[in-house]
Amino acid sequence: MLLADKTAAAPCCCQQFFVLQIFVAISFLLCIFVAQQLNMKVSYKTFSLPFKYPFTISKGTKTHQPTFIVELEHFGLKGYGEAPAIAYYNIPVEKMVEDLERKKIFVEKFAFSDPERYWHYLHHLFPNNSFLVCALDMAGWDLYGKIKRKPLYELWNLDKNESPLTDYTIGIDTIDKMVEKMKEKPWPVYKVKVGVEGDIEMVEALRKHTDAILRVDANAGWTLEQALQKIPLLKELGVEMVEQPLAKDNWEGMKVLFEKSPLPLFADEACVAENDIGNCVNHFHGINIKLTKCSGITPARRMIATARALHMKVMVGCMNESSVGTAAIAQLAPLLDVVDMDGPLLLREDIAKGVTFNNGKIQYTDLPGLGIEIDW
Ligand code: MG
Repeated sequence: MLLADKTAAAPCCCQQFFVLQIFVAISFLLCIFVAQQLNMKVSYKTFSLPFKYPFTISKGTKTHQPTFIVELEHFGLKGYGEAPAIAYYNIPVEKMVEDLERKKIFVEKFAFSDPERYWHYLHHLFPNNSFLVCALDMAGWDLYGKIKRKPLYELWNLDKNESPLTDYTIGIDTIDKMVEKMKEKPWPVYKVKVGVEGDIEMVEALRKHTDAILRVDANAGWTLEQALQKIPLLKELGVEMVEQPLAKDNWEGMKVLFEKSPLPLFADEACVAENDIGNCVNHFHGINIKLTKCSGITPARRMIATARALHMKVMVGCMNESSVGTAAIAQLAPLLDVVDMDGPLLLREDIAKGVTFNNGKIQYTDLPGLGIEIDW
């Protein structure tokens, strides 16, 4: 009887074991599914966006702007970031692709909760590629805004109505062509690229045709003697400020110029990242922060706070970003004295829809995150 009972129990055990196996298998698959959902998915594209006109500054001319766009996907939401390649900083898009491909798995495995933690992780993951960190940081902020369902300026408690007007850049060209470009784009604030021979004549010619605010950017193209001679002439022409007059490491020259210049001086090439700000005190009146060179929105916000604490003026400039990177600058604009975010106005092709301008005034979409729409 006892034996019979035992043999009768055997099929029951087998069934239980089978059910247990199925349960374990389903749990395992569920764990994999959940783990995949927790991981971010990273993808990217590169573009070469043509300028409307060849773009010339004191360092050279370019007809196209290479740029790197990254997408971060998390729980079905997608954030986007951008980093244009600038030859001067020697980080081409190929380098951004190569570095990301090498460590993509680590970028995807990060348990994303807030963009500032994410930036610290990225900063250590890619210590020599601030451009790639910028693109990923920006995408993290876009994603975060979409998770919170708010534009970033709203998450930061900023009033978008306090944003200054953006300027429109006139690149170096023949004087006739520069005047033609300006007339083609009536605008309240122009930034004129200078730093070459005959640049005062260029500004004089432009001034004859406009009462708009003029600011100039020498892109490190002057010697101290040239700057001392030209800046008072520019002041007479009603120019508002001068960006990077001397070579980035000419601190001795800047010390002299800072004491004698009748116009405010802003550091661009001399102020790349956070630890450069201290050097700029008593050498420049303000700094020009660029998201790509400083490695993203996260450090840019810290730089704004630091510069304010040091009683310096704050500008955020662009590197000819498409509407993706330009929309990121727009989020910070209420914090700034000067904004130069005319990339989409200078480029013939764009990647996304987002921020637009009404006679220099930034028009926000009020969509969450960066506020852009992109066809990916
Ligand atoms: Mg500049």
